[in-house]
Amino acid sequence: MGFWAPFYPVLFPLLLLSTRLVAQRSKKVIEIMESARLIDGHNDLALQLRRYFNNNLTAVDLKTLNKTNTNINKLKEGNVGAQMWSSFVLCSAQHKDAVRLTLEQIDVIKRMCTKYPDFELVTTSEGINKTKKIACLISIEGGHSIDSSLAALRMFYELGVRSMSLTHDCHTPWAESAAEKHNRQSHRNASLSKFGQEVVKEMNRLGMIIDLSHTSSNTAKMVLNISRAPAIFSHSSAYAICQHHRNVPDELLKMIKKNNGLVMVNFYSGFVSCQKLSNISRVADHFDHIKKIAGYESVGIGGDYDGATGFPQGLEDVSKYPALIEELLRRKWPEKELKAVLRYNFLRVFRSVEKVKEQLKDISSSEMEIPFEDVNNPCRLNLKKPFPNLGLSLSKTMPPALNIIHTVILYIVSIILIGY
Ligand SMILES: [Zn+2]
Repeated sequence: MGFWAPFYPVLFPLLLLSTRLVAQRSKKVIEIMESARLIDGHNDLALQLRRYFNNNLTAVDLKTLNKTNTNINKLKEGNVGAQMWSSFVLCSAQHKDAVRLTLEQIDVIKRMCTKYPDFELVTTSEGINKTKKIACLISIEGGHSIDSSLAALRMFYELGVRSMSLTHDCHTPWAESAAEKHNRQSHRNASLSKFGQEVVKEMNRLGMIIDLSHTSSNTAKMVLNISRAPAIFSHSSAYAICQHHRNVPDELLKMIKKNNGLVMVNFYSGFVSCQKLSNISRVADHFDHIKKIAGYESVGIGGDYDGATGFPQGLEDVSKYPALIEELLRRKWPEKELKAVLRYNFLRVFRSVEKVKEQLKDISSSEMEIPFEDVNNPCRLNLKKPFPNLGLSLSKTMPPALNIIHTVILYIVSIILIGY
């Protein structure tokens, strides 16, 4: 104690000054976040609603729910202006009931966003801009949700889905996942099959944002080469900072810049520091790196809350976004860039996607079907063409024995005529 006594006259004003600086920065953070309300690219609350409550909304109060990283009070505290809610179903549902499960997840998101007056369902960039509430956007995580069907993709769009990642941790029959654990599975297409390319074209035509999180680098490259609209990584971080296959390597960051797209940084500690534990500073390193390689125009936020367990100290739930902005401000990120990261970069991408839709409005929907052998799924029904009507339909009047002979003859004629 005695040793420090002579320094008190200097230390005390210094302490006061630093407290005032922190207070000023906090005030600045609130100003920035209130004028550019955050649009977050990925949140898995809907998955938790299924896990904990079997999608039964009467069993839960979303304002105060505390089993999850997300509730409405925390979203407000975090200054969240729009959330892309993921209607994710596990890869184990692929080739089984993925489409039904996805419909159920879309349903619960829609019910959640209409039940609570704090939310508003939106399907356009204008919708995000107009609302003073928390805008709800719906996304699909993993192309297995469309069961290799462009018709299913279109119907999901009709239901309000505005973004889809082409894969989750499993390959689809038409696109490749980055997850190595599934690489042993047979996979015909190293990146994107002909049908996969058609999915990209159809998403461009529909006005659906293509999400490359979870896809392999080769798939992402091919998409970035053929897509007419900007693409996003809705919840991925920088590979140079943490060498995880879910993160984006510099080569792709450069391509995203060219594509006018966006990398929305994932906060999960496993992707931030490649370890169980992490902190805000390490998250900010990802922002610095992506900005260095692709420019601030390519940086966004996709926290992945409720999609993983283990978030950095200080960023434990959706109320904590301001702490990150404070750290970026401390690192001298200009206000204009922070607003772009929070909101305007995503709005730019969404508007471009909508513009491409407008440009392609005269193109009719694709009727391409995936080759049956590519899907390799015994549950898939292959409807045969009906027998040709040869005007010999006597079934109602013929005795049963003759009816059988008649059917056999028709069958043989069919084989000879059309190769059935
Ligand atoms: Zn994910």
